[in-house]
Amino acid sequence: MKAGCAVRAWLLFAPGAIACLLAPCAPRAASPPAAPRAQLGVSLEEGWPEIEPFSDGKTATDLPGRAARWEPGAESGPDRTGYDALQVELSTEILFAEGAIAGEALWTLEMAKSPPAVLAFDFFDNMIVTGASLDGVEMAWEHAADSLRLTPPRVLVPGETLQVRVSYHGQPERGFLLGFAFGDHGGVPVAYTNSEPAAARSWWPCKDRPDEKFTAELEFIVPDSLAAASNGVLTAVTPLPGGRAGYHWSTRYPLAAYLVSVIATNFVQFEDRYAGLDGREMPLTHFAFPEDLEAAQRQWAVTPVAMRFFAETFGEYPFIAEKYGMAEFPWSGAMEHQTLTSMGAYFLQLPNCQDWVVVHELAHQWWGDWVTCGTWRDIWLNEGFAVYSEALWAEHLGGPDSLRAQMRANTRHFRGSVYDPDFIFNSTVYRKGAWVLHMLRHVVGDADFFRGLRKYGDAHAFGAAVTEDLRATFAEIHGDDLRWFFDPWVYGEGMPLYGVWWEALTPGPAAQRLVRVRVVQEPVGSQYYKMPLDALFMLADGAEFRTVLWDSLPDQEFFVALPAEPVALTLDPDEWVLCRIYYDAFPSGLAEDPGERSAWEGAVRLGAPHPNPTRGALEIPLALAPAPSGRSGPAGRALSPLPPFLAPAASPQLGIFDSAGRLLRRLSLGSGRNGEPVFSWDGRDPRGVAEPSGVYFARWLNGAVPLPGSGEGRAVRILLIR
Ligand SMILES: [Zn+2]
Repeated sequence: MKAGCAVRAWLLFAPGAIACLLAPCAPRAASPPAAPRAQLGVSLEEGWPEIEPFSDGKTATDLPGRAARWEPGAESGPDRTGYDALQVELSTEILFAEGAIAGEALWTLEMAKSPPAVLAFDFFDNMIVTGASLDGVEMAWEHAADSLRLTPPRVLVPGETLQVRVSYHGQPERGFLLGFAFGDHGGVPVAYTNSEPAAARSWWPCKDRPDEKFTAELEFIVPDSLAAASNGVLTAVTPLPGGRAGYHWSTRYPLAAYLVSVIATNFVQFEDRYAGLDGREMPLTHFAFPEDLEAAQRQWAVTPVAMRFFAETFGEYPFIAEKYGMAEFPWSGAMEHQTLTSMGAYFLQLPNCQDWVVVHELAHQWWGDWVTCGTWRDIWLNEGFAVYSEALWAEHLGGPDSLRAQMRANTRHFRGSVYDPDFIFNSTVYRKGAWVLHMLRHVVGDADFFRGLRKYGDAHAFGAAVTEDLRATFAEIHGDDLRWFFDPWVYGEGMPLYGVWWEALTPGPAAQRLVRVRVVQEPVGSQYYKMPLDALFMLADGAEFRTVLWDSLPDQEFFVALPAEPVALTLDPDEWVLCRIYYDAFPSGLAEDPGERSAWEGAVRLGAPHPNPTRGALEIPLALAPAPSGRSGPAGRALSPLPPFLAPAASPQLGIFDSAGRLLRRLSLGSGRNGEPVFSWDGRDPRGVAEPSGVYFARWLNGAVPLPGSGEGRAVRILLIR
């Protein structure tokens, strides 16, 4: 988006980012305990587990610049390598004692119509290249600026297929987030990788961009007391001299460089089975640390059932001729490596099942691995889809209420845009990305939404897609270019704020009542949203009446014919739209600055009425609730100047109710003797008739005022004695 902005965001957030994973969401059983305290642990947002991606005690400032931060680079632009990577035979010996690796990559490449003058690979330049050849003929190389540039010994022919071999060794330096790491669990060594988004190049020479896919023959040589788990199918375990063993893994389905992974330690392997849609069985092969075996068996048991649900929803598991599994690694996140998710040991140490993590990573096998984001600017096509898949799973288990609860928990004050975010693992990517899909589903309807997802998947299967590909698919299905939807929601920022008024136009009893509804939108920048807003009228006869208001203008009126007298209107009752709705109030001034509103959230309460009891007149002041411990807030600040939601434009109103709950009076905010904000009541009804002795209640009438979370401060009790 904006380079300067991106740099700042990286510095703020880079150290503790989670490669793929996200925060706990609503329906989960209990709040997780604190994550293992990390030297570099920072939470991306409140509620996220703290993460320690760096197990060797380095701090962010110790790390080279390329490891401490990362920005979308050449891989977000056109591919200028001049070749298509078809296949790699990658052999990596893991040298635990030295914290090093020795490797050889044999690439099969197909030249473009204009073959390149040099064959370039992404490869960190701290790694030592010891040899390079083209079809067996040695060639010269340059290795600088994390790029390995090989000079072909002959002229390359357009369209020809050739083989390039590169030999190297070294101690891998960390890429952003991770790369190749050495650690231990209970004193047993473990080597592991996590290469998203651009750290595959830290440990092997590759074309490190998400839209380049190839098949891979992967050999990892480890001490024979350990096992190496990787992508695809295990084809052989070869004993080697010196107490070593070579684990050969083979992928028949193409994958991107960042999805190639290995974890090597004293794994215990256990199996489960998945029954495919056509009845064919596929192994689920999991790898856990011996000390965590029981927890892994318990926590990962949901896999075959969830896989079946996603297969029925999105189409068959994409890699059914290989396998799926999870492998534990000593990291506090999880990562959807193709056919073998890396699952943080952290989750297995939590007391409750973390099904949502299993489900999230599993969904990535479709959205992320089968269809990969074409550039990192499109990362929401991976993460927004995985978070929405969690919501779909919740809906599958618990129905519409669970779906709503899950999406409500995904609501934030979102920073920046979904496309080309300032930080590729921020909550705008994950959670607003999920909201985009949720709203798209509402716009096109369930049938077209799920048909569209399958069509999008089939069109880009085993390849990559960008945001415009998704838009094009749904545009075709919906018969509308949908730019009015994608432009504000995906490429733009913010969300709509709606002010809503309504009135019944036909006086007296009538068979059909005409209602005027006025919806005012607060502009986000210069932009207004076009959205279908469900409107639910409660009618005097107890029935409900539903309709849809297609709102698109700054200030729009709708006329609705109802079969009976209306008593209440709720807009978007099923929470299909990411928005804020203010009844009987202009959004203007209420929430122009979400941060300001957020700082006040829950802080304002109704003070004690005085005098109370009263013989008639009384005043109800506003008070500030004490700030919750550990949270900064406006406690102690004077209510002057008034926060935006109490400003006159917001017309905050207090209602006086009798003990039967009937609304007797509406009070507007005024000023007390010293200019302080108060509500005043003269003990009379709107016609000036004195109310009788009794118990009365005062409470807020509009949703404009951020209130404390529970009872206190929401309503106050008044005793009137005549
Ligand atoms: Zn993810």
